[in-house]
Amino acid sequence: SFDSLAADFYGFENTLTDEEKGFLLRLREYLDSEIRPIVNDHWNRAEFPTQLIRGLADLGVAGLAWEETRPFENSAVFRGWVAIELGRVDASVSTYIGVQNGLAMGSIAACGSAEQRADWLPRMASGEVVGAFGLTEPLSGSDSAQGLRTTARRDGDNWILNGSKRWIGNATFSDITIIWAKDEADNQVKGFIVPTSTAGYSATKIENKQSLRMVQNADITLDNVVVPDALKLADANSFKDTARVLRATRADVAWGAVATSIGAYEAAVKYAGERVQFGKTIGSHQLVQDLLAKSLGNITASLALCMRVSQMQDEGIQRDEHSALAKAFTTSRMRETVAWCREIFGGNGIVTDYDVIRFFMDAEALYSYEGTREMNTLIVGRAITGTAAFV
Ligand code: FAD
Repeated sequence: SFDSLAADFYGFENTLTDEEKGFLLRLREYLDSEIRPIVNDHWNRAEFPTQLIRGLADLGVAGLAWEETRPFENSAVFRGWVAIELGRVDASVSTYIGVQNGLAMGSIAACGSAEQRADWLPRMASGEVVGAFGLTEPLSGSDSAQGLRTTARRDGDNWILNGSKRWIGNATFSDITIIWAKDEADNQVKGFIVPTSTAGYSATKIENKQSLRMVQNADITLDNVVVPDALKLADANSFKDTARVLRATRADVAWGAVATSIGAYEAAVKYAGERVQFGKTIGSHQLVQDLLAKSLGNITASLALCMRVSQMQDEGIQRDEHSALAKAFTTSRMRETVAWCREIFGGNGIVTDYDVIRFFMDAEALYSYEGTREMNTLIVGRAITGTAAFV
């Protein structure tokens, strides 16, 4: 039977339906038996467990959000809890789905034509086609709304893409990458479904990452890549369209930050109940209980915020600044929480055998990707004051 997480102190999960709880239970069982036992080894070796692609697809996780592919009608709140189950096991696992379902399928769902949706979403939900999302560039990260250098030039029935991308998740093994490029004709950002087998496209793994080591990030080069007009995302015609995709995925990252906090917290609660110092378990010492209680407070406040942002998404009233505040707030609370939880382990807190350091390190990537804290803060600042302070 489905047991609510102890970290869900106020029982938010109880609002889910039995069907949703059944789905979460099957996912939890799969992750506990197939993925949890191998994550530290893969993290240490910086390898992605490719069996995850089929495993999550078979459970229906990859297509959950989209009408064409979902196993049953479900809410953004429920998908938040799916992110919790994934991320409390490992942040690279939730990032894989964040890229496949949220960013890559999300771009096609939000900006694709009916034909493009029907053509790609089912194949991506089944794991047959893996996607990546190429927005960031070597010279343009936070300023990608205006600073993209990658260009798209219309040439008859085709587009010619030139430029480079950096940090692109899943991109060492993706079958397609959504490439965002500036149209030379009108200087607007447009989106393209680029099959990675296309001549002139190449991806190289970024080595030596100390955060999200299991996620395969790549540098991409586009050298006169020819893309048929049929693969230009029909409704991706300015950065406002890119932002529609990010509005949903930033809320997903907010949930991912809570999941990472919960992963570290669960490890810390267990360790505090086992490790004995001064003749009693360290969890019996007041100052350790203080760290656990503060962590639970951060998790609870962040969960409440995520629940509301996703409800607003379900109600169709969520704006960019709602996702931005949730992302900035929960990732900041996560950074405190994983540090407090790591502290509870003493020396053992810095070897991956005890899990907590993996959450601690992975938190840094979540803090910076999908808009840094500063960028998301400026989106909120613009909403508060009416003045954009980015430039
Ligand atoms: P910069 O933009 O160079 O920023 C550096 C610092 O300056 C930051 O602290 C920033 O907040 C600050 N700063 C910049 N401008 C201002 C300002 N106006 N005011 C105040 N402070 C400012 N991108 C993709 O497209 N697809 C992916 O799949 C993807 N996956 C990623 C996975 C990982 C593990 C990582 C680390 C990144 C990934 N990214 C991806 C890129 C990510 O979105 C960028 O790293 C992020 O947007 C920040 O850009 P940057 O790294 O270029 O930092």
